[in-house]
Amino acid sequence: MFEVSSLSASYGEAAALHDVSLTIAPGEVVTLVGRNGAGKTTLLRCLMGLHRQYTGGITLDGRRIDGLTPDRRARAGVGWVPDDRGIYATLTVFENLTLPPIVGPDGWSLEKIYDVFPALRDRRGSMGTQLSGGEQQMLAIARVLRSGSRLLLLDEPSEGLAPVIVQRIAEIIREAKQHGVAVLLVEQNVKFAATVADRHYLLAQGRVVESLDNAEFQRRETELLAHLGM
Ligand code: ATP
Repeated sequence: MFEVSSLSASYGEAAALHDVSLTIAPGEVVTLVGRNGAGKTTLLRCLMGLHRQYTGGITLDGRRIDGLTPDRRARAGVGWVPDDRGIYATLTVFENLTLPPIVGPDGWSLEKIYDVFPALRDRRGSMGTQLSGGEQQMLAIARVLRSGSRLLLLDEPSEGLAPVIVQRIAEIIREAKQHGVAVLLVEQNVKFAATVADRHYLLAQGRVVESLDNAEFQRRETELLAHLGM
């Protein structure tokens, strides 16, 4: 179980998150929905330890991780796919996949990765720079699954990608879910969020204003999005 309790964050004097609490069970996909500037990326950066100016608790599988460096959080099982995907441009697909350490017993084998992501098998000798946006996104997710992370943090994975690739990413998120990975998905593409998520947290001006299951989210979508100003 992944748990965030009463997390508040700021940039200097400016508050960015207020008292955010959330939970994600293994195999659960949860989204964080909110307009630009709501604090979504700040929250992911706090969870990964990349933004340090915050208070509150972060626990993964019973272990407090909020005092750890980003590197140690990765080793504790937190996997991060940043919005720029973070691919090493001058390394090959194979090198990008195999560079990060294996941090858990459930990491996917290379064979499994290549079966689920056939494009990465075809492109395994290509440099990061030679990949399309969709291939980079697949590689970034595959890298986390290979490492055996228990938590996958995804920052706007559908942004700028063709609908057919977005559909593929949804399938891959479902596959990760089936393997018991907890997924926190930041999304502005609400249709995409509703096709993959079990639950949603709505974030406005740094606060969680609603927490609801996917059925209720879909039923009240228009009202909720108007409320968020999206
Ligand atoms: P977006 O989808 O545009 O990335 P977001 O929901 O991820 O939006 P954040 O980027 O987390 O929002 O921003 C939350 C608040 O923190 C905003 O008011 C933003 O201006 C502020 N902020 C973000 N990064 C910084 C920074 N490096 N320095 C100062 N303020 C920042």
